[in-house]
Amino acid sequence: AVRVRFAPSPTGFLHLGGLRTALYNYIFAKKHQGSFILRLEDTDQTRLVPGAAENIEDMLEWAGVPPDESPRRGGPAGPYLQSQRLALYAQAAEALLKSGAAYPCFCSPQRLELLKKEALRNRQTPRYDNRCRSLSQAQVAQKLATDPKPAIRFRLEGEAPAFQDLVYGWNRHEVASVEGDPVILKSDGFPTYHLASVVDDHHMGISHVLRGSEWLVSTSKHLLLYQALGWQPPQFAHLPLLLNRDGSKLSKRQGDIFLEHFAATGFLPDALLDIITNCGSGFAENQMGRTLPELITQFDLSRVTCHSALLDLEKLPEFNRLHLRRLVGDETQRCQLVGQLQALVEEAFGSQLQDREVLDPAYVERIILLRQGHICRLQDLVSPAYSYLWTRPAVGRAQLGAISEKVDIIAKRVLGLLEGPGTHLTQDVLNRELRKLSDGLEGIKHSNVMKLLRVALSGQQQGPPVAEMMVSLGPKEVRERIQKVLC
Ligand code: GLU
Repeated sequence: AVRVRFAPSPTGFLHLGGLRTALYNYIFAKKHQGSFILRLEDTDQTRLVPGAAENIEDMLEWAGVPPDESPRRGGPAGPYLQSQRLALYAQAAEALLKSGAAYPCFCSPQRLELLKKEALRNRQTPRYDNRCRSLSQAQVAQKLATDPKPAIRFRLEGEAPAFQDLVYGWNRHEVASVEGDPVILKSDGFPTYHLASVVDDHHMGISHVLRGSEWLVSTSKHLLLYQALGWQPPQFAHLPLLLNRDGSKLSKRQGDIFLEHFAATGFLPDALLDIITNCGSGFAENQMGRTLPELITQFDLSRVTCHSALLDLEKLPEFNRLHLRRLVGDETQRCQLVGQLQALVEEAFGSQLQDREVLDPAYVERIILLRQGHICRLQDLVSPAYSYLWTRPAVGRAQLGAISEKVDIIAKRVLGLLEGPGTHLTQDVLNRELRKLSDGLEGIKHSNVMKLLRVALSGQQQGPPVAEMMVSLGPKEVRERIQKVLC
């Protein structure tokens, strides 16, 4: 059975790069009726960020790619937090010690620091000199008496096994000569990444490891560990990096790549999934507007290439517009959007809502239907340009008088226009009728009629077209706002 995992370290909140790795794992699992597992790699306790573990799981749920097994959901292969699996790593380290594939290291932090400094001074990559590898049993016993909790190092020797990566093809990374023997278990009993990930992938029955390409070079080391432990390794598929459009590293500092930010600013999960799959490979062709079920049926791991995916976030609003329109077209989804917009209006204008009728679901739904093609996010509908939809303007008579002395006559004519058949006026018809109305008023410029109406309806000098405002507000509300300006 296919079992894949997303294994982030809770050292930060979930961002687009992480979502992409999770998404490919999710899609691959669902495509093969497999399981998608969330495992939190929290072994570096000094780098933990409070709230990150919760945020990662929350955001996966929000994005619509929830894990089948996870710290919160539990599952048959738990616990899913590495800090709760220390006994398993100790057991593996013990087995490696026994077979001679690992050895205790008594080097002091000071000595290791010195080695590092010296290497850097000689412009060499720091490398452990494997000093403790050659300690005799007697020496080990003697050192254990004063230092009962040494670190455990893995003996990196022999030729690194070649492996066929499902994306990058045949690979072999000469690890033994480049790096010193790595620590696999620290003296505090916590494992390092390499041991923990191998032990967990084995015990959790992981069939395929789909992870970022930055781990490609570590894979040979992992395979040596599998070999030494006598375990069958999973298949590996490394995913090319997600970069900015200009090829630079996706910056986490800008804050705007965190999922929380997108959720809070009204972007839809589907739009995010769509944009991050469209900028990469894995599909016969790229096309905007795909939903998760379509991504699952169309995905083909053999189509993932080694090219980095270049993300153009400036296109996100367009992706969002597309998915928003799709949701509006679905009655159940539209109902939810109505609820969301009601909440947004309440939040943005709560204290100014003199007239609670604007929160009427029928009105809110009508606004969504009318404006869907013009907005990217639901949030756009509570921007200042649209505030006229939700609040009545406070317009002074003097303000209108400054535009035209004929306020009353213009207002009365417009009221006349809205009577009877006017109830169903469209934007085009209204434009035509308003033009006719101005032509019929001697000495009054059309532009002033429109300016007057705009101010009377919205209190603003600029904004959406007047006829559009009239259609959105509906004849009853337009009448009431105009009546207010009459003496
Ligand atoms: N904890 C590693 C990370 O944060 C996981 C690497 C892997 O998937 O093996 O990227």
